[in-house]
Amino acid sequence: MTLSLICPTKYSAPWVAAIEAIAPEIDLRVWPDDDDKADVTFALVWAQPEGIFAEYPNLQVISSMGAGVDNLLQDPSIPEQATIVRIVDPRLVSQMGDYVLAATLNHVRQFPTYAQQQQQQQWQPLQPRNIDEVTVGMMGLGQIGRAVANRLAQAGFQVVGWSRGAKIMAGVTVFAGKNQMQDFLSASEILVCLLPLTSATENILNAETLAQLPQGAYLINVARGNHLVEEDLLSLLDDDHLSGACLDVVSQEPLPQEHPFWSHPKITITPHIASLTDPVSVAPQIVENYRRMMARQPLLNQVDRQQGY
Ligand code: NDP
Repeated sequence: MTLSLICPTKYSAPWVAAIEAIAPEIDLRVWPDDDDKADVTFALVWAQPEGIFAEYPNLQVISSMGAGVDNLLQDPSIPEQATIVRIVDPRLVSQMGDYVLAATLNHVRQFPTYAQQQQQQQWQPLQPRNIDEVTVGMMGLGQIGRAVANRLAQAGFQVVGWSRGAKIMAGVTVFAGKNQMQDFLSASEILVCLLPLTSATENILNAETLAQLPQGAYLINVARGNHLVEEDLLSLLDDDHLSGACLDVVSQEPLPQEHPFWSHPKITITPHIASLTDPVSVAPQIVENYRRMMARQPLLNQVDRQQGY
C-alpha cells in the first residue's frame, strides 16, 4: 500500500516532510519516481498530467491537494471505483476571509482611486460609504463561502448569499437556485464568487448576469477564472455598469503578458494567492483519510462526482 504524490507544478518536499512527520509508517513516493505503480492505492494530486491515473491499476482514493477539484475531475482516466476527496481546512478558510475582507474594504474605502491620485500628486478627499450601508453578495455558501459571508457580516456589511440548495444562516439573507439568482444579484453591490467550477457554474459571470448587479457594483472573483467571461467584464467596466473588479483567478494562469487586465485602471489582479494550502495544516486530514481507506471506513471531505464538487 503506497501513497503517491503527483504534483508536477508544486514543490513536493514540504508535503513529504509534513506527512512523514506525523505518519512515518506510510510508504510515501513522489511521481515520477513511484516505480511500482501497482502498489499505489492513494494518490495525492495537483495539476496531474492528464491520463496519468491509467498507470495506477489499484487506486482506491484520489485526494486533491486543495479545496477545488475542477481540474482533477476533468481527467478521463480517473478509475470508476476511486473515491475523490478534497481539502477542507480552517486555515484555508481564514486566509480567504482575510483576502475578501481586504478586497471589500479596499473597494469601499476607495484605495485604488487614491493610488491613482497619488500617481498624479492629487490631494482629493472623497466621501466614504459606511460599510453597514453596503450589501455584499456571496455566490457559493460552502465550506469557504459560508465562513467568509459570516466574517463580512461580523465586520458590519449587509450580506446576502446564493447557493444551489436553500439554507438558513443567521445574519445572512440566503437565495437559492436559478429561480432566485436575479433577486440575489440585484441586491449585491459587491459580488464575491466562491463557487466551485462545474459545468453548471462555468461562465456564470457573464454579460447577462453581471448586468443584473446594481449600477456601480464591484466584482471579486476568488474561485476560478473560468467562472467569468472576461470580455463581458471588460464591456461592463467600459460602460460604467461595474465600477471595478478584483480578480485572484483568471482563465489563463499566469495571465498572459498582452492581456488587457494587466493595465486596466479598474481591475486589481493578484496571482491566485487568496488562500494557499499549508501542507502542515492539512497533512493530518490526508493521513486520516489514508488510515480510513486502510480500515475501509468512510472518508472525510468526499466529492460528489456527479455534481462536480
Ligand atoms: P464547497 O464545495 O464547500 O461549496 C460550494 C458552494 O457552491 C455550495 O454552497 C454549493 O451549494 C454552491 N454551488 C455549487 N454549484 C452551484 C450552482 N450550480 N448554483 C448555485 N450554487 C452552487 O466549496 P468551498 O467553499 O470549499 O470552495 C469553493 C471554491 O473556492 C473551490 O471550489 C475553489 O475553486 C475555490 N478556491 C479558491 C482559492 C483561491 O486561492 N483563489 C482557494 C480555495 C478555494 P450547496 O451548498 O447548495 O451545495
